[in-house]
Amino acid sequence: MNFSTESLVFDPQIIRRFDVNGPRYTSYPTADRFVEAFDSEAARLWLGKRNIGGISRPLSLYFHIPFCNTICYYCACNKIITKDHGRSAKYLKYLGRELALQSATLEGQDGAHEVIQLHWGGGTPTFLSHDEMRQLMAETKKHFKLLDGGEYSIEVDPRKVDAATVRLLGELGFNRMSVGVQDFDERVQAAINRVQSEAETFDVVKAARGSGFESISIDLIYGLPHQTVMGFNRTLERVLAMDPDRLSIYNYAHMPSLFKPQRRIAEEHLPSPDAKLQILALAIRKLTEAGYVFIGMDHFAKPDDELAVAQRQGRLHRNFQGYSTHADCDMLSFGISSISKVGPTYSQNVKTLDEYYDRLDAHLLPVFRGIELTADDILRRSIIQALMCHFELSIESIESAHLIDFNTYFAAELDDMKEMEAAGLLRIEPDWITVLPPGRMLVRVISMVFDRYLRADRERKRYSKVI
Ligand code: SF4
Repeated sequence: MNFSTESLVFDPQIIRRFDVNGPRYTSYPTADRFVEAFDSEAARLWLGKRNIGGISRPLSLYFHIPFCNTICYYCACNKIITKDHGRSAKYLKYLGRELALQSATLEGQDGAHEVIQLHWGGGTPTFLSHDEMRQLMAETKKHFKLLDGGEYSIEVDPRKVDAATVRLLGELGFNRMSVGVQDFDERVQAAINRVQSEAETFDVVKAARGSGFESISIDLIYGLPHQTVMGFNRTLERVLAMDPDRLSIYNYAHMPSLFKPQRRIAEEHLPSPDAKLQILALAIRKLTEAGYVFIGMDHFAKPDDELAVAQRQGRLHRNFQGYSTHADCDMLSFGISSISKVGPTYSQNVKTLDEYYDRLDAHLLPVFRGIELTADDILRRSIIQALMCHFELSIESIESAHLIDFNTYFAAELDDMKEMEAAGLLRIEPDWITVLPPGRMLVRVISMVFDRYLRADRERKRYSKVI
């Protein structure tokens, strides 16, 4: 199963030895560290002084559409299963209110309403009717200015979308699409309650190419019930025939105690850990042979896709949508459970519709928790970003940007990384830390070394054991 390419070495023994569950670091600190003391008023204050000092970078906007028609049993998202479209009509009305409220706090700031990136995620954004899609985009444009050349993306469920919907999305300005596939094997699809034909997926991809979409990404999942190496091989071949610009291969983590829908998946139908690794190995080999570049975590892109180009040029960034080319944008998010990033803060919206509507009825930002980053958080966030996006860290630039002596500040972390260094996952030099090809699949685990909150949890556990 071992194999290597220029940028990646796949070694199951190393993966088995070091891999542990951990965060995906779409933010640092991770959302579970947010506190309720950071509330709606704190979020409003930070929005109000977003471009203090006259620096106004264009924004990134995120809209969470939580509704889905049917439940996929593997789902771990915050969603609402319904066939009642009246529910989305009401939700859109309140999204409009939230847009107005957030936009009003930016008033008076030069260029503060300019947007370079926008994303509709879910749930299923394509749950919305054509009129609702038009309405949400019109409402957005009433408050914000979408700049030419921006990255405007949407998650698409091909089971709910035809060529006319894709054309409309193109007309509304979307130019990036991610298409959920997971697996084409019928037995797997039945076991996860997501039956989706190759033909409907192919039609969506074809319509997107004809509607001005510049980048199409396909999402797959490995580790699903009844998956086999042979079956997944066939899925990969069908997907590669669609020639996507990007591919994501996510790991299915079976945690039925945390995610109720997963109780419908029988454990005995899941592939063994060995079979899972074989499926992953196959996927990585096939994608790299087909010319895709490993970006990091679960993401692959064609060498000329902007993610791969940005990575080569050192401009890649990580945010709530995964990898992004728009470094350091403030992100304003709308809808239940969505997370905003403004200056040195994160804030998260309430998670239920009732709370969302109540807060907006009271003219309050519907924030229920957040965090103002400390200098230490900002320092560690930049280290985790560098490792996740570029597989290397310039110690000198961290020292000069954050005015620290790296070896003293991170003595314990450097010590903890010695085992990884001895195993060939990374190289520590006086000026650089480099994640080597065998460590790239494990960059999340390497980043975890720099997570102060995880370190504190471990210390607490160690301490309570001693007592
Ligand atoms: S996986 Fe996506 S489409 Fe399926 S239930 Fe969850 S949010 Fe909805």
